[in-house]
Amino acid sequence: MSPRTSCKIGWTVFFYTFIGLASGSGPIHRALRLMREYPLIDGHNDLALQLRILHNNRLNQIDLHNISNVATDINRLKEGHIGTQVFSAYVMCTAQEKDAVRLTMEQIDVIHRMCSEYPELELVTSAQGLRNCTKIACLISIEGGHSIDSSLAALRMFYRLGVRSMSLTHTCNTPWAESSSRIYEFYLRKNNSLTHFGKEVVSEMNRLGMIIDLSHTSWDTAENVLEVSTAPVIFSHSSAFEVCQHLRNVPDWLLGMLKENHGIIMVNMHSGFVACGNKGNISIVADHFDHIRKVAGAESIGIGGDYDGASIFPNGLEDVSKYPALIQELLQRNWTEAEVAGVLRLNFLRVFEEVEEVRDSLKRMRPNEAEIPLSEANNPCRLILKRPKLNPVTNRAFSPSASGSLNILVLILVMVFHESSQALMCCGL
Ligand SMILES: [Zn+2]
Repeated sequence: MSPRTSCKIGWTVFFYTFIGLASGSGPIHRALRLMREYPLIDGHNDLALQLRILHNNRLNQIDLHNISNVATDINRLKEGHIGTQVFSAYVMCTAQEKDAVRLTMEQIDVIHRMCSEYPELELVTSAQGLRNCTKIACLISIEGGHSIDSSLAALRMFYRLGVRSMSLTHTCNTPWAESSSRIYEFYLRKNNSLTHFGKEVVSEMNRLGMIIDLSHTSWDTAENVLEVSTAPVIFSHSSAFEVCQHLRNVPDWLLGMLKENHGIIMVNMHSGFVACGNKGNISIVADHFDHIRKVAGAESIGIGGDYDGASIFPNGLEDVSKYPALIQELLQRNWTEAEVAGVLRLNFLRVFEEVEEVRDSLKRMRPNEAEIPLSEANNPCRLILKRPKLNPVTNRAFSPSASGSLNILVLILVMVFHESSQALMCCGL
């Protein structure tokens, strides 16, 4: 190419870019216009976890418009054109077999308070509520089945508290489903990725109208759920395994099943899942979108940023205010406006509405009274309710610590007796 020709092309690009910017039809203007028309539904955010870690859930200490040391606050949600934020009520896996249910309720409480104390936010619990909401809608999701402590009654009560989605595992197995991670040793299993009770959880979530979230589950568990769920499911914050080989991501064969199920995968922005060890940039994130569109169609895609859950994000996508740059990139890659509108909002709304339709079709079904067999969820914190034993002398219940002390006393007496008899035997007496 001659210098003259290249100079001519350069001027042509400059001219059209200038015209685009001046007329408001350049990619960033198109992105912003689309985002005003179809405000983003972001499928996963861990601000509530950070409020617990940094502020012990004391909202009085902070101004939610502008919070330091996090990636999410009201000002940045507005800047990012986020219309709905799914807030995760997440508690660490180390709470499994301990106080996971209480801690989860406390996280739900802080999300309720956030969304009622600030006039820019509104707690929403239905697809129609999302459509009608003129503020930033808050949806509550539980992250990790350990939060229900293998109790369908607890699941139902969480639904009543406004929870509309639950991922079946976090980084630990539950007694009934398998995680993609092996970092915890809870309930290790072979070829039992979704137990009979796990299928009851899936069926009760279908009956309630709670969206099943497969991010964090093992691929086997995801496959099993896709076989038995009567409603569409989501991966709320996962990316494409073919682009970045991480077990938290979704392989093509599962994307094919997800398409059949009418579900969606909401692409995770975390560098570890999109750039596999590198920090990455907007382009590598867009590669995940391109790949998933090729395998499962644009109608199977959403966005689930994972801000404030993960810590490292690609250049240009450091916090929730940066989403317009990603939408601009998709438009520059010739995604149609209809496809982008689906990614931003309409695909999630379709899934939520289908989940509600399944709920409505099952309204004659009674609440599921299945219980997990004690042998499958045996741990010291599970109590079979029965009347306590009474101390016949005081006529009061034995406290666990008192009976523990009694056991230790008996043990010491046995050991002393044993030692004494050994000594007597040694002396030949
Ligand atoms: Zn997560």
